[in-house]
Amino acid sequence: MTPQNPHIKLFNPPSIRQPRPSYSQVASTTLSPGTQLITTSGQVGQTEDGHIPSSFSEQATLVFQSLHICLHTAGAQVRDIIKLTYYLVDVSNNHAEFSGLLMQFLTDGDSVHSPPSTMISVAALAHPKWLLEVEAVAVVSPAPPSLSTLTLSPPQKVKSVDVVIVGAGLSGLQAALDIQNAGLSFAILEARDRVGGKTLARPLASGKGVVDIGAAWLNDKTQPRIYELAMKYGFETVVQRTEGDQVIEITPGEPHRYGFGQVPLASKKTLEDFSRMQSKFEEEAAKIDIHHLPRSDFDNETVAQFLLRNEIDEDAYKVIETTIKGLLGVDATELSLYYYLDYIKSGGSLKDLESDKSNGAQYMRLRQGMGSIAQAMAKDLTPGSLFLNSPVSSINQMSPSHNTITTQSGLQFHAKKIIISIPTPLYRTITFTPPLPSSKATLADSTTLGYYAKTILIYSSPWWRPLNLSGSLTSLNGPVSFTRDTSVPSDSQFSLTCFLVGSTGRRWSILSPIKRRQAVLDQIAGMIEEEHKRKVYETEEIIEQEWIKEQWSQGAPCPVMEPGLLNRYADVLRRRVGDCHFVGTETAFEWKGYMEGAILAGERGAKEVIEKLAKA
Ligand SMILES: Cc1cc2nc3c(=O)[nH]c(=O)nc-3n(C[C@H](O)[C@H](O)[C@H](O)COP(=O)(O)OP(=O)(O)OC[C@H]3O[C@@H](n4cnc5c(N)ncnc54)[C@H](O)[C@@H]3O)c2cc1C
Repeated sequence: MTPQNPHIKLFNPPSIRQPRPSYSQVASTTLSPGTQLITTSGQVGQTEDGHIPSSFSEQATLVFQSLHICLHTAGAQVRDIIKLTYYLVDVSNNHAEFSGLLMQFLTDGDSVHSPPSTMISVAALAHPKWLLEVEAVAVVSPAPPSLSTLTLSPPQKVKSVDVVIVGAGLSGLQAALDIQNAGLSFAILEARDRVGGKTLARPLASGKGVVDIGAAWLNDKTQPRIYELAMKYGFETVVQRTEGDQVIEITPGEPHRYGFGQVPLASKKTLEDFSRMQSKFEEEAAKIDIHHLPRSDFDNETVAQFLLRNEIDEDAYKVIETTIKGLLGVDATELSLYYYLDYIKSGGSLKDLESDKSNGAQYMRLRQGMGSIAQAMAKDLTPGSLFLNSPVSSINQMSPSHNTITTQSGLQFHAKKIIISIPTPLYRTITFTPPLPSSKATLADSTTLGYYAKTILIYSSPWWRPLNLSGSLTSLNGPVSFTRDTSVPSDSQFSLTCFLVGSTGRRWSILSPIKRRQAVLDQIAGMIEEEHKRKVYETEEIIEQEWIKEQWSQGAPCPVMEPGLLNRYADVLRRRVGDCHFVGTETAFEWKGYMEGAILAGERGAKEVIEKLAKA
C-alpha cells in the first residue's frame, strides 16, 4: 500500500452523500503550520440517501448545504473560500434562481463574500438528473495578531513553564487553577479574545441583564462541580419555569397545547412506539459502565437504523430525533447507538437529560449568565499567566519534558507538560511533531460537532405567561426545534430562546439573516392562537448565535461519534500522547457534553500532570 502523504487529510462528512471509494468529498492540505488548503469535490443536488429532487432550486439548496458541511468539517467557513466553480445545465433558465441562492450562501450579516468564480455551462452532468455541480477551494489561515495580543504578550519571546494549557474554556480554566494550586508554573493560551469557550452571556441593548448565547442550564444536585463554582463566585440562580402549557407541532401547521410534563396529543401508535423506544434506551443505557466500555454490537448501527429496525412509526421517529438534535445537534442518522447510550448514562438518564424539573439538566440558569463563571475563574489565575488572542499553531515534543508550544502570533513556550482542552475536531488546526498517533488523528477527523444555534427573542413583557403558556414549544418540523422561557424577572429580562439544531437548523442556516429571523418569528407565531400572534413580532431585540460559524468552536455542544468509533477508540479520547494530556467536556466520563463534564475533565487532566511531575 502506498503510504499516505502526512500533509493531506481526506475525509467524507457523515451527513452528506458518501462517495465511491475512488474519491473523497474533502481534502485538507497543510501549507504551513495552522494554514490549510481545503478542496471539495463537486457537490450535487442529491440527498444522503440518494434522492435527486426534480426542481433546480431544491437541488441548488442541497448543493449549498453540502458545501457548508464540507467546509465546516474541514474547519473552514464561507468567508475562507478563495475559488468557486459552478457547472450548470440549462444556464439560461436556471441562472436567476441560482444567483439568488448563491447570494444567500455568500452573505453573512451585512457582508457578502465574493471569491473568484467560474461558471461553466454544460449539456449534462455525470448523472442525467443532476442540474448543477459546485466545487470550492478555501484557505484557513492564522489570524493576524490583534492589539490585545500585543498588549498581553510578555516582552520576551520564549517563556519556560511547567505546564502549558491550550484553551481557556471551562475545562482549560479548571485545569489551570488546579495546576496553580499545586504550586506549578503555567501559561494558559486561548485563541479568542475572551475566556469561556462555549459559555457566553450577551448583555441586552436595553441594559436589562444578559442572555446566554451558549450554555444556559445547570443542576444543583446532579452537577455539583459547576454548581459549587457558581455558588463560590456568588452568582444567583433562576429556577426554570415549568408552569403553563407546552405546545407541540407534530404535523406542520397543527400545534397542540398540553399541560407541562403531560403526554402530548398524538396517535396511540406514536405514543406506544415512542415509549417503547425510550424505555429501551433507558434500559440499555442503565447497563453501561461509563468507565469501562467493552466492544458492543450497539456500535454497529446508527440510532436511525435501530429505530427503523424496530419499525416505529414516523412521528415517533421524529420525536426521538428531535430529542437527539436538542441534546447533540445531530440527526439520528449521524449518531452511533452505542455513543448515544453512553451519552445518556453519562448524564444519568434520558428522563433527567430531557427534564426542566428538579433533577433535570435544564433546571437552573444564572442571573449573571453562564459566561460569568469562566470570567470569575480567570480572575483567580496568577496575573500574566493567561494569553488571549493566542491560538496555538504547533506543538513540538522534542524529547520527554522538553516541548515547544508556538502560537499563530509567534509566541513560544517551553513546557514539561501540555494540557489540551480544545474540541477534538480542532486538533487538526495544530501541527503536532511528531504527528499524533493514527488513532488520535482518526478521532480528530471523524468525531463530528453538531449544528447548534440560538435565536433569542427579547420582549418588554412575558406575553406568553398570561396566556397560560410556559414558553416551551416543540416542533418536529423545524426550523426551530424547541424553545424555552429564559427570562430573568428580577432584571425585567423577558425572553424566549429558540433552538435551531441538526439538519433542520443547517437548512435554516443558509438563509439570509433577514430570512432567518423571519422564519423563526413566523414559525413561533404559527404555534400561537390567532388573536395573540402579533405579540410574537413585537420584539425589543433579537439575538442570534450560530456556533458552527465560530472559528474556535466549529459547532456544539460536544463532538459525537458515528458507528465504529467508540468500539475502537473509547479510551483513546483521553489517552495521553507523550507529554500531551487531553481534557475538554467530550473526554469526561460523567456529564460529557456539559459544563459539569468540562470541569471534571479539567480536574482529571490536571491530576494526571501533577502526579507525573511529582514523580519526575
Ligand atoms: C448553544 C449551547 C448550549 C449549551 N447548553 C448547555 C447547557 O445548558 N448546560 C451545559 O452544561 N452545557 C451546555 N452546553 C455545552 C457546554 O457549553 C460545553 O460542554 C462546555 O462549555 C465545554 O467546555 P470545554 O472547556 O470543554 O470546551 P470549550 O468551551 O469549547 O473551550 C475550548 C477553548 O479552546 C479554545 N481554542 C480552540 N482552539 C484553540 C487553539 N488552537 N489554541 C488555543 N485555544 C483554542 C476555544 O476558543 C475555547 O475557548 C451548551 C453549548 C452550546 C454551544
